[in-house]
Amino acid sequence: MVDVLTIEHLYVEVEGKEILKDINLEVKSNEIHAIMGPNGAGKSSLAQAIMGHPRYKITKGDVKINGESILGLSTDKRAQKGLFISLQYPIGLQGITLFTLVRASLTALKYKPTDPSQKPNLPLPQIRKDLEFYLKKLGLDDSFINRYVNEGFSGGEKKKSEIVQMAMIKPKFAILDETDSGLDIDGIKIVASAIMDISRRETGLILITHYNRLLQFIRPDYVHILMDGRIVETGPAELADLLEQKGYDWFKKGL
Ligand code: ADP
Ligand code: MG
Repeated sequence: MVDVLTIEHLYVEVEGKEILKDINLEVKSNEIHAIMGPNGAGKSSLAQAIMGHPRYKITKGDVKINGESILGLSTDKRAQKGLFISLQYPIGLQGITLFTLVRASLTALKYKPTDPSQKPNLPLPQIRKDLEFYLKKLGLDDSFINRYVNEGFSGGEKKKSEIVQMAMIKPKFAILDETDSGLDIDGIKIVASAIMDISRRETGLILITHYNRLLQFIRPDYVHILMDGRIVETGPAELADLLEQKGYDWFKKGL
């Protein structure tokens, strides 16, 4: 079944300032969308608003999954509806290992007991095996399973560990905010191929980036250009190539 995430006439305010204006977007769970734009355009704000960060206040418009508004839901409930985000700046979770985090996520998302007095029936050996499999795919060793999430990880390791989490959760929609930042060129290739393998057109991808490097390896179906809080253009993958050649300033002049 194809799921649909719809963003309708969305206006978002941060600290009393209007950041996003009239954003409209429809993402199906078998599609790949890229959102590109210069620094400060509002890309991360859009991601945070969709996930329900309280600082990003939606003043108008709606966000729906399969036609149903999710705006009344807390972030964890949105995750239960199938949303996943990889943050631009992942935060360290002192005391929480990757295994604990993945186990807690899967408990909440997939193995929640119907009777709250019951323990969730988690297939722990399989979860560990899957974790090992995906860590390897991303070029991380098994020691990451028992390390505190993002504590002492390099920039690239943080981004890779987020993709491992996405692989374990298998969301309907994944918003990946600047997953290519902090990765060297080999890292980008590894991460891009893992994202393609994992999503397999069963997870709708929203790739936020300001370079087209990642998009050389994951060709999006649609590229949206966000400038000053508005989507000013939507086009095919080649739009990203054009932007790379000409720059955002050139594009802005043409508007
Ligand atoms: P991008 O991800 O495209 O670089 P952001 O969404 O991070 O852009 O930022 C868009 C604008 O919103 C910027 O002007 C930024 O300063 C402002 N902004 C974002 N988050 C906050 C915040 N928490 N407090 C104040 N201003 C913010
Ligand atoms: Mg950003």
